[in-house]
Amino acid sequence: MRRLLVLGNAGIDLVCPVPHLPRAGETVVAHGQSRAPGGKGLNQAVVAARAGAAVTFVAPVGRDAAAGELAAALADEPFQALHWLPQAAPTDLSLLMVAPDGENSILSLGAAADSLSTAEAEAAVAVLDSQDILLLQGNLSAAATLAAARGAVDRGAQVCLNTAPLRWDVAPLLPLCAVVIANAVEAEAITSLTGPAAAEALHRAGAALAVVTLGAGGCVTASAGGMQHHPAVPAATVDTTGAGDTFCGVLAAGLLAGLPMPAAIAAAQRAAAITVGRPGAFAALPDAASLRVDPAA
Ligand code: ATP
Repeated sequence: MRRLLVLGNAGIDLVCPVPHLPRAGETVVAHGQSRAPGGKGLNQAVVAARAGAAVTFVAPVGRDAAAGELAAALADEPFQALHWLPQAAPTDLSLLMVAPDGENSILSLGAAADSLSTAEAEAAVAVLDSQDILLLQGNLSAAATLAAARGAVDRGAQVCLNTAPLRWDVAPLLPLCAVVIANAVEAEAITSLTGPAAAEALHRAGAALAVVTLGAGGCVTASAGGMQHHPAVPAATVDTTGAGDTFCGVLAAGLLAGLPMPAAIAAAQRAAAITVGRPGAFAALPDAASLRVDPAA
């Protein structure tokens, strides 16, 4: 069976509704707090598994109670395999501030993700073969991410890279990517261009398929087949947190299932529209019934 290996971060989200997002120097008092599993790697792995992909999720965590909390929270997720890589650093933590209009600001502590070594990354991808897909994000170090991508390509596997969070130069990775997914802000930061021109530039920089997501504007794709705009599925926005992760997880699952690219994009946008209609990140991820990717569809 084709495997989707998600190598990425996992942590605890501390979610705080706030009256408005803080300005520089301002203290904002939250209306409350809740804890949930989080991290882009974790969210994308969960979504892809719920969409029916055979997902192996590999993530660095601390040797602490939060790692146990994560394991318990994910016990019922339909992963094919789940491998924690214990690090000396504490399990990652993100503080999510969510404003009444659904907009969010996120502060992430990512020492566990950062401390994953290149040797651990290379070992994680050693299981891949030419049928498989590796899905990466920006939370691991540049060196570990590059090592994983190179290892995957050496084994003939396809690499999907989500450029979020953008915190190091992704240029060396792009020629290794079958798919790169960047939101509008990331795409502009990488290419100094916007919209379709940014997608085209990411493709020219080496990604076989470049996807630039545009929030309620849907997304644009650029590949050897040309450029295309894919409108979003209209949704009443409650909280956009997790939309990008849902999109990436379902797109990777769709490609793994053999869907043609436009159909995989459509499935990803249908799923992301569900996520934006719900509060929270992990809690907003669509369930398996609404996510199943059907190759015959
Ligand atoms: P986030 O960081 O909020 O999780 P993102 O910035 O990574 O998201 P976006 O470009 O905002 O990514 O959204 C990804 C996809 O989610 C879009 O391409 C679109 O399909 C869907 N989406 C996002 N916002 C909306 C919206 N308001 N209405 C409908 N679909 C949306």
